[in-house]
Amino acid sequence: MEPRESVAAVGSAEAPKVHAKSGVRLVDKEARPRTLVRVGSATVGAGLCVIAGPCSVESEEQLLETARAVKRAGADLLRGGAFKPRTSPYDFQGLGLEGLRLLAAAGRETGLPVVTEVMDPRDVSWVADHADLLQIGARNMQNFTLLKEVGRCPRPVLLKRGMQATLDEWLLCAEYILAEGNPNVILCERGIRTFERYTRNTLDLSAAAAVLERSHLPVIVDPTHGTGRASLVLPMSLAAVAAGAHGLMIEVHRRPAEALSDAEQALTPEQFGTLMVRVRGLAAFMGAGAAEREGGR
Ligand code: PEP
Ligand code: MN
Repeated sequence: MEPRESVAAVGSAEAPKVHAKSGVRLVDKEARPRTLVRVGSATVGAGLCVIAGPCSVESEEQLLETARAVKRAGADLLRGGAFKPRTSPYDFQGLGLEGLRLLAAAGRETGLPVVTEVMDPRDVSWVADHADLLQIGARNMQNFTLLKEVGRCPRPVLLKRGMQATLDEWLLCAEYILAEGNPNVILCERGIRTFERYTRNTLDLSAAAAVLERSHLPVIVDPTHGTGRASLVLPMSLAAVAAGAHGLMIEVHRRPAEALSDAEQALTPEQFGTLMVRVRGLAAFMGAGAAEREGGR
């Protein structure tokens, strides 16, 4: 069999052209006004956008029950992993194409746009056929071939911060996507690895605030992976909103104890309902200050 033409070979081997005004990168605040990323019916970058759903798509019933619950509670987007980057190869790896089909169907039924992770450059175009927003996971933040591929795709991209990545490395990964011609990038702070083991990661809210200061790209916060503990998701969601985040990503499972991945950190639909009331209340309270924050930077 002929070797598959590599994605890297399709693109130019040259560095992208010099951008905009000299010294100003495409991600920089100075490059342009605040980017609003439209994902189906949702907009990220103005107001508060909440993405919710299970870590993994496990079955039609599991996904639909959770999707209906998060929709009822007021979520703006549905999440669900079909390709799961698991630490152990023996853990549940996701349902693959079947998971994508279930996710797209749940999106149609609830009217929620859907986001799912793509791990392999070869999968980008057909994952994009099923999802409204492509997630690049923390473990793939610096997969430059993947970044270039989603940069050439007409779908918006959610770029999670790598668990060992500095702020500049994260922004340069967004730059890769922008440099390929895709301007619709949302940054997601999801915690970094530190010496602390009580929490799964250390949620770096200062990075979210710093990105708001440094870039025109919208930034959302994932307090679920950021803490790894369901009990800490509500307080950290409120803290993220108070820090000015444009959105949240929250894992919800109809029965968290039975989840095939990330069981310790998923909220029940009921806990998610409570969270939504609290974060929407805080976002409304913050509303007046938001324009001031944006204008002041
Ligand atoms: C996820 O969103 O389920 C996920 C794997 O996230 P991260 O890449 O941040 O670990
Ligand atoms: Mn997860």
